Amino acid sequence: MSEGAVNKEERRKFQAIKGTRDLLPPETALWNRGEQTAREVFATFGFGEIRLPIFEPTDLFARAVGGETDIVSKEMYTFEDYDTTELLELIESRRAALTWTDSPILGPPGPLGSGTQAIFSPYTTLVGNVLRLGSDAFQKGKIPRTPENERVLADLKYRLEVFVSSLNSGTLNEKRQFVNSFKGLVAQLKIGESLSLRPEATASVCRAYVEHGMQQLPQPVKLYYMGPMFRRERPQKGRYRQFYQIGAEVLGGSDAPAIDAEVIEMVMTFFDRLELQGVQLDINSIGHSADNCRRGYVEKLKVALENVKDKLGPDSQRRIETNPLRVLDSKLESEQGIIATLPRIADHLCEACATHYSAVKHQLEMRGVIYRENWRLVRGLDYYMRTTFEITAQGLGSQNAVCGGGRYDGLVELLGGPPTKGIGFAIGEDRLILSLQESGKAPAQQGRDVYIAWMGERAHATAIRAAKDLRKAGFSVELPPVEQKFGKALGQADKLGAKYALILGDNEVSEGLWTLKTLADGSQAKYTEPDLLEHLRKQKALSS
Ligand code: AMP
Repeated sequence: MSEGAVNKEERRKFQAIKGTRDLLPPETALWNRGEQTAREVFATFGFGEIRLPIFEPTDLFARAVGGETDIVSKEMYTFEDYDTTELLELIESRRAALTWTDSPILGPPGPLGSGTQAIFSPYTTLVGNVLRLGSDAFQKGKIPRTPENERVLADLKYRLEVFVSSLNSGTLNEKRQFVNSFKGLVAQLKIGESLSLRPEATASVCRAYVEHGMQQLPQPVKLYYMGPMFRRERPQKGRYRQFYQIGAEVLGGSDAPAIDAEVIEMVMTFFDRLELQGVQLDINSIGHSADNCRRGYVEKLKVALENVKDKLGPDSQRRIETNPLRVLDSKLESEQGIIATLPRIADHLCEACATHYSAVKHQLEMRGVIYRENWRLVRGLDYYMRTTFEITAQGLGSQNAVCGGGRYDGLVELLGGPPTKGIGFAIGEDRLILSLQESGKAPAQQGRDVYIAWMGERAHATAIRAAKDLRKAGFSVELPPVEQKFGKALGQADKLGAKYALILGDNEVSEGLWTLKTLADGSQAKYTEPDLLEHLRKQKALSS
């Protein structure tokens, strides 16, 4: 194809999908430092790394995060996963039934004359195929044997019979409505398992804890993870659709307040080690799900909210019914004064939860961890209980939460495991890095130690060997792939921020004396190979 024939579509420039981004050097050096520091600090607290799949059954997240939450109801990247080889025919026939249209054959809608059968009978064949192949796959268990699929297949069968028997009567609009209703039904047939990209990792850690029988290990089990999470949120500064979390979970054992405090101490130690600025820890206790504790409080909160309903915005008004605790999260300026007058959970905790909360605070004080109590810090899901915390940092604008965490004693059981205590946190790594950058912690571009300026084939062979030895000794070396004039090579070395240029020409090779130029001051000296290595080592030790 000639160049002129390449059309616009083919020349399309690809860009990273909205809400995702490339992380590039030198910024990635800061990411690596953050991750390395997490590994080191978490290991000193006895945590081991768990690496989890990026996708899991949609149901796992629906259950753990909550089907009613924004994350699950609107923000997950969900897809159907099936064995294409076995189900190819069914997939094809489903696609054909979903995309079929009569419009190329017929003009505008009107009364139906003769020939209806000819127009719509191809569609009955397509739906017939879905029904035949779908029923067969259902019988053999090759598509999910769910009540939903059973209903769809039965419905398809019944409606197809009606459609076929009335093919020659009715208006075109009626026929089209029928086709649309078939499409709606066919779309509901689940051929594969519904999977989702993980929007968070706590659910996966709990799944893994149960799946690998970790309750048999010495308790509690302490795990940390790091990696990308996916939520279809509206992108803005500090909020992405692919973002990164570093998190940790403590599962099993007791719910001793010292565990809560130590987990918080660990995150704070990590932030401290990174010299994160403006760190503010907020804590709260949300009690547990019982009438004499949180449930009772929520009832009182509801009543209080009903009394001030007209003064609240539409979001909060809706939440009075769906999730009254979330009203406390509101950032709306006009609602702040009203929220300040609402009943507070601390006054409604049961005795055990109140005792636990004061013990956590005492434990934090023993560890020298500075906190602020924030009665508005809540979580909307039933299995969250007692300790919740959030950490904010400087330089992040409105998205300033860099870590969220809390106790979730009911979650493992909810996912089919034994009753298990649990507490954990997730740090937003994107925000962590952003905050470090804002406070000037960004590393400079990493330059090379040595640029090897070589000329001639003999010198090339020596240069390759020199590069190997220098790299083995831990120096960063740039070895140009093709011969360059010395002047150009030195210019290149400068641009790459090299500290030294090692000059290798015929003379150097035959004499066995190599020329080392210090680029900062232009000074030059000759060394034998072992002396050169020794000299560079000494210089490196001096500068580090
Ligand atoms: P969550 O899992 O919602 O409790 O979030 C824990 C932490 O992850 C938050 O405090 C944020 O720092 C970070 N985070 C959550 N969602 C996003 C996002 N869309 N983009 C960047 N960071 C996020």
